[in-house]
Amino acid sequence: MENFKTFDLYNPTSEHLMLRQMIRSFTQEQVEPQASLYDRKEEFNLPLFKKLGELGLLGITADPEFGGSGMDALSAVIVHEELSWSDPGFCLAYLAHSMLLVNNFSINASTEQKQKWLPKMCDGSWVGAMAMSEPQVGTDVLGMKTNATLTPEGYQLNGQKMWITNGTQDEKGTPADVMLVYAITGETKGRPQISTFLVEKGRPGYRVGQKIKDKSGMRASNTAEIVFDNCVVPETHLIGHLGDSLNHMMRNLEIERLTLAAMSLGIAKRSLQIMNRYASEREAFGKPLKEFGQIQKYIADSYAEYAACRTYVYDTARKLDLNKQGQRVDSDGVKLIATTMAKKVADNAIQVLGGYGYVGEYHVERLWRDSKLLEIGGGTLEAHHKNITRDLSKNPQFLD
Ligand SMILES: Cc1cc2nc3c(=O)[nH]c(=O)nc-3n(C[C@H](O)[C@H](O)[C@H](O)COP(=O)(O)OP(=O)(O)OC[C@H]3O[C@@H](n4cnc5c(N)ncnc54)[C@H](O)[C@@H]3O)c2cc1C
Repeated sequence: MENFKTFDLYNPTSEHLMLRQMIRSFTQEQVEPQASLYDRKEEFNLPLFKKLGELGLLGITADPEFGGSGMDALSAVIVHEELSWSDPGFCLAYLAHSMLLVNNFSINASTEQKQKWLPKMCDGSWVGAMAMSEPQVGTDVLGMKTNATLTPEGYQLNGQKMWITNGTQDEKGTPADVMLVYAITGETKGRPQISTFLVEKGRPGYRVGQKIKDKSGMRASNTAEIVFDNCVVPETHLIGHLGDSLNHMMRNLEIERLTLAAMSLGIAKRSLQIMNRYASEREAFGKPLKEFGQIQKYIADSYAEYAACRTYVYDTARKLDLNKQGQRVDSDGVKLIATTMAKKVADNAIQVLGGYGYVGEYHVERLWRDSKLLEIGGGTLEAHHKNITRDLSKNPQFLD
């Protein structure tokens, strides 16, 4: 019998282990010292983000021929988990760029398009975003109103997008350097036909409507409303074929949901470390908190739920093929279970720390605020319920 007991699910190869060591020291040395400050200021740390380009992380899964690192889904999970241990808000900006934009573009764009644009997306010259949601439409994506019409000058985009991470780069409303925009381009068999366009900063008619302020969490990432007002892009800015983009969207949502679940692991691990240490150091009624059964329940439940989710996330990552579609049952599954786990574990940590947990110094209140977004962004819990049930009823063999 082969010796499978030495298999490390979390670092299956030496490359994965080296990646984890590299991103862990970067996080401790450069991300952690600024995390609380940028949360308080509600600002995005652009210079720090650009350093991720120097490390080859902005194009982690992208085509190596054009500046990407060509790594797999599990590598992306490692980076999101490690960054979110410290700063989930900063990590969300990273996710929007590297997963929603770069991974999507690298898989669906033509060779000419990749030659022209991918290197700038990977090396940190550009900060990018992906715009799917709208003021009136989130879960119900086929109801989107943003449209693109072919004119003699190219495709003319009109509409509004909402909640776009990295949509603005700063407080002055400088738009993302590059954005993938989903728009309606007609109808096929009575269903809206969705296509993707690449829009760069400086195109007339492309602007930031507003930076969304006063978010509960994820404050270290910028979120914006974006307006397209007769914005014309050349025909060469159509990504893939006309009407292909429901497929692009569905395929990319798989890695998006997996990496959002990975962020949950980072949040939970940090919260556990903090509550575990505190319960040993703090005393009440003459003994350490860890001696009290109710405190033990917070710590033990948190650990077991975190460990179970971590196994599910990494097992899904191991199997996820970035070029294929059809792995939604588990990409939705991991996001469904891990995001709520992270929120609960951060909440447990606040409870174990008492009053100290409720203030910024001990980090867990920030992690708790950040964790809530993971139950909404990239698909709500309710959307996962719908998808998983639909997939299991269509493919009962998933349960074999
Ligand atoms: C900080 C932040 C960053 C974001 N970043 C991006 C980004 O970069 N790009 C982007 O395109 N979008 C982004 N989003 C948008 C996000 O993906 C949407 O908020 C999310 O998909 C939910 O859409 P909605 O907010 O319109 O809610 P709705 O879709 O209006 O849902 C409201 C409620 O109704 C429920 N609901 C809706 N339909 C059903 C149904 N069929 N059955 C049961 N319940 C249902 C939902 O689950 C939810 O509870 C971001 C959002 C936030 C808050």
